Amino acid sequence: MKKILKYMSFHAAKKNNIISNTCFSQEELNNAKNIILELQRKTALQIENGYGPFLAAIYDDKNNLIASMPNTVVNDCNCLHHAEINTINAAQKELNSYDLSKFNLSIYITAEPCIMCAGAIMWSGIKKVFYGVSSKDVEEITGFDEGYKPEWMQQFKKRNILVCGNIEEEIGKNVLRNYVKSGKTIYKPERLA
Ligand SMILES: [Zn+2]
Repeated sequence: MKKILKYMSFHAAKKNNIISNTCFSQEELNNAKNIILELQRKTALQIENGYGPFLAAIYDDKNNLIASMPNTVVNDCNCLHHAEINTINAAQKELNSYDLSKFNLSIYITAEPCIMCAGAIMWSGIKKVFYGVSSKDVEEITGFDEGYKPEWMQQFKKRNILVCGNIEEEIGKNVLRNYVKSGKTIYKPERLA
């Protein structure tokens, strides 16, 4: 635990709480901020249309949109249909490849990937991950279970997958608060005490 905190604080920019496992250029961070703000805006709309409160988008290194999908767990009656899984599925179909590594892709997500999606991103060949709200905040605000993923950012770094998070987190947290306030489904399996 001590090691994680040391690592995190090294990369955490105090001013805006951004966290990362590498150094990104200001240009790349500004671009990520714009994309995530747009995703948060769309998430608020998709909630009104009955989708889950998360959205992801995959772009190539020339900033072309490859795929973007919302969370459709409730709509599809499928616990695997998180926004990241849906978006990776759509991108692989679009590019006709199960290995996305040759396309130099980035995934942008309204919130930190859960244990399942972190695994899926790792297997997909995506090179960079940008996210909004941290798992800790998602759990505190919504009650969703994000799973156990110790040192995931360091594990990604070992595999040359670059991560930057807590981007425009306050706006993202408000979208989640509104989801809860509106009385929408918080889906998670029951646990034994
Ligand atoms: Zn997930």
